[in-house]
Amino acid sequence: MKTKLKNALNDFSFEELKVLEKDLVNGAEEMRAIIWEKMQELSNSEKFCATCFRELENAKYSLALGTRLKKRVSFCEIDCMQYFISHLKEFEKEITAQGGKNEN
Ligand SMILES: [Zn+2]
Repeated sequence: MKTKLKNALNDFSFEELKVLEKDLVNGAEEMRAIIWEKMQELSNSEKFCATCFRELENAKYSLALGTRLKKRVSFCEIDCMQYFISHLKEFEKEITAQGGKNEN
C-alpha cells in the first residue's frame, strides 16, 4: 500500500504535493471525493453497497439516478440508503460527471 501510494505520487510536482498536503490538513474533503469516485468506478454498483461498499448478494434497496443514462445504485440496508439520500446533493456532481463521460 505504502509503495503503491509512493509510486502514484511520482507524477506529482512539489507544488501539487503542497496542494494535496493542504487538503489533508483541512480534513481531506477533496481527497475523500476522489477516492469515493474511484471506488464507485471500480465497484459494480449493483454488486456493492454505494455507501459502505459491502458486497451485496441480492440488493434489497436500489435507486436509478440520472435522466438519459440511468445509473443504478444499490444498498445493503435502509440506513445506507438513507445516508446516501441525505448526502445526494454532495454526490450530484459525481453522478452527473459520470453521466457526462458516458455520453461521449
Ligand atoms: Zn451499506
